Amino acid sequence: MKLDNVYLDMDGVLVEFTAAALRVHGKEQALLTWPLGHYSLPEALDMSPEDFWAPINALPPEWWENLSPTPWFEDLPRLVERWPITITSVPFTAVADIGKIAWMVKHYGSPPPRYEFIPQRPGLPTPGGHKANHFLLSKTAEERAGCLLIDDSDDEVQGWIAAGGPAIIVPAVWNSAYNSARAPMRYVIEQLQQYS
Ligand SMILES: [Mg+2]
Repeated sequence: MKLDNVYLDMDGVLVEFTAAALRVHGKEQALLTWPLGHYSLPEALDMSPEDFWAPINALPPEWWENLSPTPWFEDLPRLVERWPITITSVPFTAVADIGKIAWMVKHYGSPPPRYEFIPQRPGLPTPGGHKANHFLLSKTAEERAGCLLIDDSDDEVQGWIAAGGPAIIVPAVWNSAYNSARAPMRYVIEQLQQYS
């Protein structure tokens, strides 16, 4: 399959969001006994979404800026550097937007030459998922087929595929590829072999 663009998710792919979010709640140990394949953090912690997100949404931009990168935050862009790369995210607040842009500049340089950060907001109609809605549904079917999403959310991946774009899940204990969670890049490299 021939690609025109690659979209890289931030949280869970380039950024260690989950461990940091659990730490906000004093629950970092929860990753050791995570319900395999279960994506929702509030549900895994048996919390309401409001109780889970309120303290995180109250944090300053620096919290987002200072999130640790994943061990492959340099290798993964290199694996797909033969295509134009767009970094994607779905920040819930303007504060998160600011912090995420600062994170990207901190780790990939300013102005980032090969990356484009596209914040997305909830509240929009999302046929086929947030990212599919923003990136794919304004494109022709042919254009969609050339847009590869690399993401850690089964919902985002399935929504993207349903909207006509190819997608690769980055294995983690919180998604369907949890069996490959110990070597996620090995899995991604295998999946990338079908694209040119
Ligand atoms: Mg993600």
